[in-house]
Amino acid sequence: MPDINWQNKILHIDINSYFAALLQQENPKLRNKPVGIVKDVGRTCIIAASKEAKKLGVSTGSNAYEAKLKAPDIVLVPAQFDRYLDATKRLKKIFMNVSPNIYIYSLDEAFVNISHCQKYLYPDVEQLAKNIQQQIQLELGEWVTSNVGISANYFLAKIASNIAPKGTVLTIDENNLDGILAEVPFAEVCGVGLRLEKKLKKLGVTNPYQIRFYSQAELELFFGPFWSRELLKIAYGEETNHLALLEKPLSQMKSVSRSITGYHLYDDEKEIKAIIYNLISEVIHKVRKMNLAGRQVSIFLNGQDQFWADHLTVKHFINHEQEMFEIIYNKLYKNWKRHFKIIKFGVRMSLLEKMGQNSLLPNWQKTEKIHQAMDDVNDKYGLFTLRTGALLNQPIIKPEVTGFLGDRIYQLGE
Ligand SMILES: [Mg+2]
Repeated sequence: MPDINWQNKILHIDINSYFAALLQQENPKLRNKPVGIVKDVGRTCIIAASKEAKKLGVSTGSNAYEAKLKAPDIVLVPAQFDRYLDATKRLKKIFMNVSPNIYIYSLDEAFVNISHCQKYLYPDVEQLAKNIQQQIQLELGEWVTSNVGISANYFLAKIASNIAPKGTVLTIDENNLDGILAEVPFAEVCGVGLRLEKKLKKLGVTNPYQIRFYSQAELELFFGPFWSRELLKIAYGEETNHLALLEKPLSQMKSVSRSITGYHLYDDEKEIKAIIYNLISEVIHKVRKMNLAGRQVSIFLNGQDQFWADHLTVKHFINHEQEMFEIIYNKLYKNWKRHFKIIKFGVRMSLLEKMGQNSLLPNWQKTEKIHQAMDDVNDKYGLFTLRTGALLNQPIIKPEVTGFLGDRIYQLGE
């Protein structure tokens, strides 16, 4: 018997074509038209598409040129991450009214666990799902439709909403479980990436159910100890390791990082310095907002197919831009014998702890005063209103919210 407690009830809500639907809601002229969202003006990678564009074969990740071949009338619009985040915060409120046990999984996806209150509050779970769909439309507009998947664990609830027709509710229960596992393609199964899917295909396995034909020992030969166990859970529809982590409390962030892929290969020292400073500013801004400070900083650089990284751990806590820059740029980066041009930059602060009386050195306090004043202005008028010298005359890389909310404590105040 698979390890599933059918008394548990989890809902997975997934907004259909989120970014495009919000845009079409706001601008009725774009409704019923193929729309592609690009990251920024002049960028060509499509990060989201309207349902009309998807029907014509435009998918996330395709470039503007390919998209125009498939949908000549496609309208390309730059993303507005601030707005998406704002809408997600409104969604969060709706979900919180249903149950306090919610997990925002990405900007347009959330889990609501009603296991503890279902029996008395929501005897008809499908009706609850429909009510949620309606509330979303009331809050964000009629154009914003959603799928709701219902099942006994996170893994199955997500499959249910993935395979449900757009705008509908689907329940996976004891009766339809095996049939669905024998039909659902791995692309719809959370945790099975493209590489794993290809490896499975070599064994002739194209759906979760077929994994049952292999023993754990056999699977271990191909996939190693971790994945053989994980695959057997997937085969029977049990909670996977990745999603079980959702219930672990997000006590505190252990690290904050930020990376960016540039527009070209970077060779110019001034440009490189500015980008590094820029990323550090954002990391520090987040760290300070959460009232944290860290003792370890790292830098990561990618060339076309090269990689370099270095880090330094210090004795005292750091939460100032200049100090992080001093270590990353002057101590780490400058000591690197640069042998490739850079396309991707990343910085990280880790070993984070709550900022208490960590540092009372007079020097720290002086910098702290200046920094607090900068925070106030940046909070009021937007990050990078006050910029340090290194950023002047350089294009600013604005903070953005990615699809997956890796830093959701910061973004959603969880
Ligand atoms: Mg979606």
